[in-house]
Amino acid sequence: VATITLDGKKLASDIKNEIRREIQELGIKPGLAVIVVGDDPASAVYVRNKGKDCHEVGFLHEEIKLPHETTEKELLECVSRIAGRDDIHGLIVQLPLPRHINEHVVLNAIPQHKDVDCFHPTNMGLLFTKKKADIPLIAPPCTAAAVIEILDRYGISMAGKYIVVIGRSNIVGKPLAVMMLDRDATVSICHSKTRDLEKHLIEADIIVAAVGVPKLVKEYMVSPKAVVIDVGINRDADGKLIGDVDYEHLKDKVHAITPVPGGVGPMTRAMLLKNTLKIAKAARK
Ligand code: NAD
Repeated sequence: VATITLDGKKLASDIKNEIRREIQELGIKPGLAVIVVGDDPASAVYVRNKGKDCHEVGFLHEEIKLPHETTEKELLECVSRIAGRDDIHGLIVQLPLPRHINEHVVLNAIPQHKDVDCFHPTNMGLLFTKKKADIPLIAPPCTAAAVIEILDRYGISMAGKYIVVIGRSNIVGKPLAVMMLDRDATVSICHSKTRDLEKHLIEADIIVAAVGVPKLVKEYMVSPKAVVIDVGINRDADGKLIGDVDYEHLKDKVHAITPVPGGVGPMTRAMLLKNTLKIAKAARK
């Protein structure tokens, strides 16, 4: 059987069409603001893309650029001013921040109901207590949500499956593992100190690599039944974008796989739009 390419680019374009249609029907204009401090070149690309995406679907988008010397107090004032606006539904402070600013203090200052990428500890707590929580979590972390959405849209169920997530970061690995548990999967989280990574991988029905090590997942480590989702974003010696999975050698050997680029990346961007829309809808009630 031929391997299924999990086409994140195509799915993202579908989602954008759905969002465009929905905001037209509802007659609303969701707003996303991004605060950037300093001039990190990688951040600049991400921020530009967010602006482009918002423009494409008809969202209000605002980029607030602050100089590197901005103090923590000034940044907090800016966060509070932007968060207070009714036309802004989602607010992002682009990371990394300059070292003189305490990231945790700033992320905690984004009001919970405008926290569009689930950085706020209360929202993270809601994610972990999902079934018992009385207030629902509106906006789950975008990259983790992107992985779930790819599986859902390709009709790949998680219930009862053995899933191995490689990487334990607060923004991807940990929340994703919890979201998959909520879908009745059996989940292992592997990381840099895991012994015998291969032993786990070879058993897995679904593998998610969120590591940042180029081509870490090799052909001999995975089973032919595996669905492989590659979150990694790395550059090879020629500056070409590559994932954490040895795509060239796996692409005909597994059940399904996401390419890099064109897999999780575009879907993460689409989920940010979807989260902004969800918050805008919740704000109307
Ligand atoms: P991180 O960089 O914070 O941490 C990396 C994780 O990988 C750690 O938990 C570490 O224990 C684990 N690790 C490191 N070396 C390992 C090894 N040899 N074997 C097993 N585990 C190992 O993680 P992050 O912020 O989640 O980012 C992971 C990757 O995903 C990066 O390449 C990042 O650029 C990418 N990323 C992509 C998107 C997207 O939209 N596609 C979003 C976020 C992050």
